[in-house]
Amino acid sequence: MNGFDCDVLIAGGGPTGVTLAVLLAKRGVKVIVAEKEGEIYPLPRAAHIDHEGMRILQEAGAADTVMATCRRASRYEFRNAKGEVLLCFEGSDRIGPGGWPGANMIHQPSVELALRASLVACPEAALHSNWELGAFAEDADGVTAEIATPEGKRTIRTRWLIGADGARSPVRKAVDIAFDDLNFEEPWLVVDVLVDDPSRLPTANLQICDPKRPTTCVLMGEGRHRWEFMILPGETPEQVSDDAFIEKLMKPWNVEGAVRLERKAVYTFRARIAREWRKGRVCLAGDAAHQTPPFAGQGMCSGLRDAANLAWKLAAVIHEGAPENLLDTYQPEREPNLRATIAMAIMMGRMVCTTSRWGAFVRDTKMRIGRALGKLPTTPPDYPPISAGAIHTGSAGAGSYFPQAIAEGGAKLDDALGDVALLITRDALAGQALLPFARKLGGWLEKNGAEAVLVRPDHYVFGTGHPEALRSAWQAATGLEPPSPLA
Ligand SMILES: Cc1cc2nc3c(=O)[nH]c(=O)nc-3n(C[C@H](O)[C@H](O)[C@H](O)COP(=O)(O)OP(=O)(O)OC[C@H]3O[C@@H](n4cnc5c(N)ncnc54)[C@H](O)[C@@H]3O)c2cc1C
Repeated sequence: MNGFDCDVLIAGGGPTGVTLAVLLAKRGVKVIVAEKEGEIYPLPRAAHIDHEGMRILQEAGAADTVMATCRRASRYEFRNAKGEVLLCFEGSDRIGPGGWPGANMIHQPSVELALRASLVACPEAALHSNWELGAFAEDADGVTAEIATPEGKRTIRTRWLIGADGARSPVRKAVDIAFDDLNFEEPWLVVDVLVDDPSRLPTANLQICDPKRPTTCVLMGEGRHRWEFMILPGETPEQVSDDAFIEKLMKPWNVEGAVRLERKAVYTFRARIAREWRKGRVCLAGDAAHQTPPFAGQGMCSGLRDAANLAWKLAAVIHEGAPENLLDTYQPEREPNLRATIAMAIMMGRMVCTTSRWGAFVRDTKMRIGRALGKLPTTPPDYPPISAGAIHTGSAGAGSYFPQAIAEGGAKLDDALGDVALLITRDALAGQALLPFARKLGGWLEKNGAEAVLVRPDHYVFGTGHPEALRSAWQAATGLEPPSPLA
């Protein structure tokens, strides 16, 4: 490799880093993942993946394994202290635009295990546990990084370095990127239990907006359930993590004998976005670039979307001669999505975390009126489309998420056509490749008044219009050979 150990060195073997590694390796990019810990992080974190996250896991080859143990929740209810429903999102178990159910309740370490199993099957990628990235230096062609390993110090030479090293991101600190603080900071205790008697547990995801003790209760992957309790002023993390204290907190749920405590952790939920996501040959992804309170279940999903956005662009720069400035489209494409996602989570968080009785009374009254007038949403909002970056701005549907069509027999579009740039024309819908999906694809073209659509490898719409005009626009925007129309 001309003096390089890899094309991409990823610091951090969490869900973002491993997903990115698999998506890169599948495109023939040589990747090394350095993970400082010996084992997958064992404490409670993500419990939910959305349809888009599942589609990215599908590309990574992990979706079927994850799906086998995940549970679907059809309702997400926000209730007040009296048990009245203030806000309810329904139908999240239905198939979403990604071609998977809208809300999939999971156990994060199992998802990470499935991702690592996919990575092991990629000859181009290697994950090294107990490898801790230390200092690194960048030059014109690449980055030279020091790694502490159990066998001693190693030097790795790479073309690109990705900091997928979590909220505390040593990579982000080393390149001196500051956070934009979005002003949310609440300490919570998170408790996961093993379930012996599921019949005694709620079947919906719940936010209990009780000012005396704001509480979350959600499904997880098969065999588990989660409670989260807000830590009140005057309480300490040690005090609330005590098993006897947790038993008291669980008492009102009447689940004694039905569940066993498995794990617990105290977190301060925060909302922050890094000011720069790329600096020279270093990019940030996942929690290293942004953190959200978990009320919308989007932290890990956002990291997966970062991975999908970065993977095809890095591969294009490394292997297909695309200009390096293609990577400058990463932040403008992803940041507005993150800001909207985090704003939604903060809105939900503020609703839940109200601890003043008067504040709760005002909130409940407003919500009651809003509900009676039919003014409250009944499904989670759609996040904004890409508005600037590698898209054919101005054409119908440009930057929107291209749905994954499912054929009558159950075949999925991406499995049939691959995770590559696609040029789909109306004329080709009756052809062999597209026929099983013709009704849905034709419907999409019809709705957007389009003769053809060019879809990016990460399943976002580059643009619509005349096929030849789209091909030229693609080449100009990305520096890549345009795809031929599918036949
Ligand atoms: C209570 C809670 C509930 C949540 N619920 C949800 C949810 O329902 N849905 C959702 O999508 N998200 C949820 N999240 C968020 C989700 O868990 C995170 O967003 C996700 O784990 C971030 O993944 P990551 O790979 O970016 O970072 P991490 O998972 O933090 O991985 C970073 C990795 O980098 C490693 N590392 C750090 N420094 C170095 C170094 N110097 N060298 C090598 N390796 C290093 C770390 O050991 C770690 O393994 C929740 C989080 C919490 C706390």
